[in-house]
Amino acid sequence: ENRTFTMLKPDAVEKGHIGGILEQINASGFRIVAMKLTQMTKHDAETFYAVHNERPFFGELVEFMTRGPIVAAVLEKENAVEDFRTLIGATNPAEAAEGTIRKKFATSVGENAVHGSDSEENAAIEAAFHFSGREMF
Ligand code: ATP
Repeated sequence: ENRTFTMLKPDAVEKGHIGGILEQINASGFRIVAMKLTQMTKHDAETFYAVHNERPFFGELVEFMTRGPIVAAVLEKENAVEDFRTLIGATNPAEAAEGTIRKKFATSVGENAVHGSDSEENAAIEAAFHFSGREMF
């Protein structure tokens, strides 16, 4: 059992890409452990992305992530963190490999459709940020 955490970001939800992205996630062998449509508050986004708070794009990132609903989900698969990062592709969609979720669905380096945890430790922290134990199956 190995888990990662993802968010389908406001740009993807606005454009009607929830179904297309989830289909690719399922087809790639991930099991959905938890999932919900939710909207982050400014405080939520500042806390979730606290590691980036010195970066020049921090304000823009918080503004973007709070502008509409997101889909938060916990996914399970062998080697989940690394395999999911491969599936989504590079942060900048212009540099993302052909067939990756960001290549297909992202707009720009900021509005890049999807989040994927960068370590197992962060996946657990991020999952707990959005879900209680009773909401994970
Ligand atoms: P994520 O953490 O969302 O999976 P990532 O790990 O690929 O993305 P990070 O470098 O951790 O990328 O950046 C976190 C998020 O901040 C990016 O997904 C993107 O939404 C935003 N971001 C990163 N770089 C920029 C930038 N240069 N300009 C605007 N937004 C950016």
